[in-house]
Amino acid sequence: MGKHRKAILWKGLRRALLLAASLLLLLMPRGLAADLDGPWYWQEDPVSRDGVSSVEVVQAALAGMGNWQPYAAPAQPPFQRDDQYIWLMTVLPQADEMRDASLLMMVTDQSFEVWLDDRQIYTYGDMEPQLMSYGQKWHLIPLPADYAGRHLYIRTFSANPLYLGDFGTIKLDASVVQMSTLMRQDIPYIANIPLAVFMILIMLMYYMSPTAPKTLYAQIILFMLAFVVWMICASNTKQLFVDAPVFWWLLLRVNVYFLPILANLIVYRVVDKRYRRSTWMAMLAFVVLLFIAVLSEILGLRGLDGCASAFYIMLPAIEGLVSYWAIRSAIRGNKYCRALLVPLVGMVIAGTLDGFSRHFHWLADMGYLLPYGTISIGIFVLYIVQQQIRRERMLSARAAGLEEAVAEAVARSEIDALTHCYNRNRMEAVLAAEISQHGQEKESFSLIMLDIDYFKIINDTYGHDAGDEVLAAFAGVIRKNIKKADIFIRWGGEEFILICRGCSSDEAYFVAERLRRQVEWSCIFARQRITCSVGVASWQGADDSAAQLIKRVDTALYTAKRSGRNMVCRESLLPEKMDLALNGN
Ligand code: GH3
Ligand code: MG
Ligand code: MG
Repeated sequence: MGKHRKAILWKGLRRALLLAASLLLLLMPRGLAADLDGPWYWQEDPVSRDGVSSVEVVQAALAGMGNWQPYAAPAQPPFQRDDQYIWLMTVLPQADEMRDASLLMMVTDQSFEVWLDDRQIYTYGDMEPQLMSYGQKWHLIPLPADYAGRHLYIRTFSANPLYLGDFGTIKLDASVVQMSTLMRQDIPYIANIPLAVFMILIMLMYYMSPTAPKTLYAQIILFMLAFVVWMICASNTKQLFVDAPVFWWLLLRVNVYFLPILANLIVYRVVDKRYRRSTWMAMLAFVVLLFIAVLSEILGLRGLDGCASAFYIMLPAIEGLVSYWAIRSAIRGNKYCRALLVPLVGMVIAGTLDGFSRHFHWLADMGYLLPYGTISIGIFVLYIVQQQIRRERMLSARAAGLEEAVAEAVARSEIDALTHCYNRNRMEAVLAAEISQHGQEKESFSLIMLDIDYFKIINDTYGHDAGDEVLAAFAGVIRKNIKKADIFIRWGGEEFILICRGCSSDEAYFVAERLRRQVEWSCIFARQRITCSVGVASWQGADDSAAQLIKRVDTALYTAKRSGRNMVCRESLLPEKMDLALNGN
């Protein structure tokens, strides 16, 4: 059993190793069919110097003439500072079993001709100064089948001595392999651009939230956008879609200065107050550098390249300081800074390594590290989103609590604690609503005002508590005998008002009479019979008002009191006698 398990384990391990090896093979620069590692020769340009043609130079070279000097490629040949044209030469090696061979060249700011013996096989640009430069571009140059052992001549022009003769990455391989090299270099971009775009969309979504710290979010979005643009510029693939080497190169070089500026703006927003000024200065340093670079570029001093070295020195130095301030803030409990540290430190390290790699031609095949900074930014964005969700959840919980409290307070302010009727506060709102809805109609609603008879005597005889008991029981009897639509209000003391919505004067009168009888017959107070007097008044249409209506119902009640109590009286629109007649007196 143990043996069997061991065998399975070994089998699995072997498979895993094989898989890892094949993956490694895919990622590693393949053993090239042929490296163009020399020897290389160079000479000054007889074409521009002596006025001969390129083909004559090549033919002379093939006949063993010319001033060819060996030099240590891929470094630049030791030409004069004011040279703009030079020739390079090497012999193409024999590559094993390679059909469809081609040369892959990464060329910056150079126009050039490629000759295979005396055949011109490729040309780029027009070999003279151009307004903007020749940009940066990869060239895949197909070779004829019989390339092996032939001389490769390159006549190159550049107005920029920084790039003249620099063909750092020049490779001979099958075209398929060359393409796969280009794609492999793009893996960092292909992997990270969609991630970055996704994060921008998420940030945009949260930017819309009313509780979002908008400036911070806008700055993060801006940084991410600049970063995506940088990644697009730095990729090889973009050339397949938009073949504009001058544009891409310019955008790449300008954009790179913006990245630390925008990053420092974000740090400025979240860092502790005491480090804000310094962070602002750090940001300004890069603004100044960008300004100098662009200005001197415009003046023809090639500032974008000239300031690049300063940039790659400033990046670790200044951003190291900014990281230190962020760390100090994080230690003091600044959680935003703690989250920000991951991308800050991650990107400074990656950017610095890229700077070295660029300078010393390291990792050229593997592409840059900086794109992987996207993942570290993702950690910060995740934190921001988490904070945003927490903030929104807290706010909505607080809002819900407030809503409840408000409802409770409103209810408390409108309800009488003793009788559980509405109090006077409610009266105004209900009357106003009723009037605004049915104010034009006559007798669209009615008021019934009730007052307990001789209540003072109950208080005086049995005590205030007994009086309270009577009030509560009285309200209970009334409540039991009215419709849901009726609004029952304690008007004050032992006076109550009933708003009978949709009741005409007659209907209200009969309700009032029924209530009066219910009170009289109910056992509200054990020791004494309780009765009440009632007034009734109805809304009289457009000419009426709430104040007049209340006054009329009050007068009707007063009439009932004056006429002997325990009776219902209607407002004095009718002659008083008829009231009395209706009441059976
Ligand atoms: P009438 O038949 O004319 O209405 O005589 P009355 O004694 O009922 O009228 P009056 O307005 O003279 O007295 C009302 C009394 O109600 C006076 C006041 O002390 C008492 N009262 C008002 N509010 C309360 C309350 O909340 N609880 C108790 N126990 N008594 C109250
Ligand atoms: Mg009373
Ligand atoms: Mg009273």
